Amino acid sequence: MKILFTASECVPFVKTGGLADVVGALAPVLARQGHDVRVMIPLYAHIPQHYVEKMEHVVDFEVQLGWRRQYCGIEKLVDNGVTWYFVDSKFYFGRSYIYGMGGDEYERFGFFCRAILNSLPLIGFQPDIIHSHDWQSGMVPALCKIQYAHLPFYSGIRHIFTIHNLQYQGIFGIKEVQDVLGLGDSLWTNDKLECFGCANFLKAALVYTDLITTVSPSYAEEIQTAYYGERLDGLLRARKHQLYGVINGLDVVDYNPATDPHIAADYTAEDISGKAACKAALQKELGLDIDPDVPIIGMVGRLSNQKGLDLVDYIIGDLMAENVQLVVLGMGESRYVNLFSWAESEYKGRVAARFTMDSGLAHRIYAGCDMFLMPSQFEPCGLSQMIAMRYGTVPIVRETGGLRDTVLSYNEYTGDGNGFSFFNYNAHDMLHVIQRAMKYYHADKEVWRLLQKRGMSGDYTWDASAAKYLELYRGVRGEAPLRDPSEPAD
Ligand code: ADP
Repeated sequence: MKILFTASECVPFVKTGGLADVVGALAPVLARQGHDVRVMIPLYAHIPQHYVEKMEHVVDFEVQLGWRRQYCGIEKLVDNGVTWYFVDSKFYFGRSYIYGMGGDEYERFGFFCRAILNSLPLIGFQPDIIHSHDWQSGMVPALCKIQYAHLPFYSGIRHIFTIHNLQYQGIFGIKEVQDVLGLGDSLWTNDKLECFGCANFLKAALVYTDLITTVSPSYAEEIQTAYYGERLDGLLRARKHQLYGVINGLDVVDYNPATDPHIAADYTAEDISGKAACKAALQKELGLDIDPDVPIIGMVGRLSNQKGLDLVDYIIGDLMAENVQLVVLGMGESRYVNLFSWAESEYKGRVAARFTMDSGLAHRIYAGCDMFLMPSQFEPCGLSQMIAMRYGTVPIVRETGGLRDTVLSYNEYTGDGNGFSFFNYNAHDMLHVIQRAMKYYHADKEVWRLLQKRGMSGDYTWDASAAKYLELYRGVRGEAPLRDPSEPAD
């Protein structure tokens, strides 16, 4: 099958969040199964020079955006069985930032979507499936269906669109988007492109794509409700027979405590002894008191409201009254930077916070901590809790979205579980669950070891998820029966 992924970020080239991990890991897995997989992302100024030097120029052309004509180059790099294409426009992507700031996001990513569709005949690739991700490539299925599908080259293409986070929709003025993409007035009704008086790239994708997926079965259910639906729940309910939840995998080669070059000592589920050295090294690196007996709680992720940080804010005094250490790595909202900076100076030697993007340190935190806290308000899938489990760090999570699908709270009666969880979005519920985890950490080493071992031996590979995507690709092409999302997958 010929499959094109379109996305705004992808590891190892550029990453701000889990989307990049998903695209960068899923594409090679599908390629290894014999499919012709290609990926298109923007050629940002952030992409490291050593990749740029290896790129080969494929073609260049002009993209018409309203009255403007903009240069577009397509550069390529073949690696890991995948052809990676980079959409080159210094004007739109040669900037000091990846997202936001310029006020012309609709034009940048409108250009990106138009350039992708226009480039396909020129690079000689006619995909069977275009699998687009998140709002930045949301106009790919919409433009293709509205303006290209009558052309024989495009008429056979089927579209899958994956929501990685419903909160980010790409909402702009209708006039601005019309000016760039030339979509006539008759398209701006509620059943098509209009959305609460605005243009909305994500909604456009959800209306025009053939199938919708999101990154966990629970999130697929949740986003059909008003609480989680971000004002698109009505549309998602209307499309519920084409809305599937497929849980993400991990790059299990990169995240492997048995071979990880970033960490102080290697270890496995069978012999976890190296984890103690990782803990001591982390305490030393971050200036924490070096003490093997105090549990370290880790947090790695965007410092955004989504991640439940206001719960931590609410009980941080109570939490630090316990015998714990807290390590935070993340970038984001200044109120959380302030919170954790304050905590670091208030609880010297017991709290460490770093506000940078540092993948090596992230690995050392996953390996060196005892517990990993992720009390998200909502969580489409969440990779961090899976990475933590792979490193024998016991997750404490709120039961939502992908956290609910990957972490099962320890049940002292049946012995089931691989972590700890709470349901209500409530700071004291979270605190009680942390205290419950600490009780096992200190007083029941056998249970703790069992939870670590279960986490470390879980299957986080992409194989099962890749098989589900392939089933959907085949189904949407009419090559195999398409199961209804309400039926359980095999
Ligand atoms: P989201 O996609 O909502 O940001 P996920 O848990 O799905 O959250 O994925 C986040 C990914 O980004 C994880 O691999 C996590 O380790 C990584 N990450 C987040 N912030 C940082 C940071 N400051 N430094 C290094 N890695 C980070």
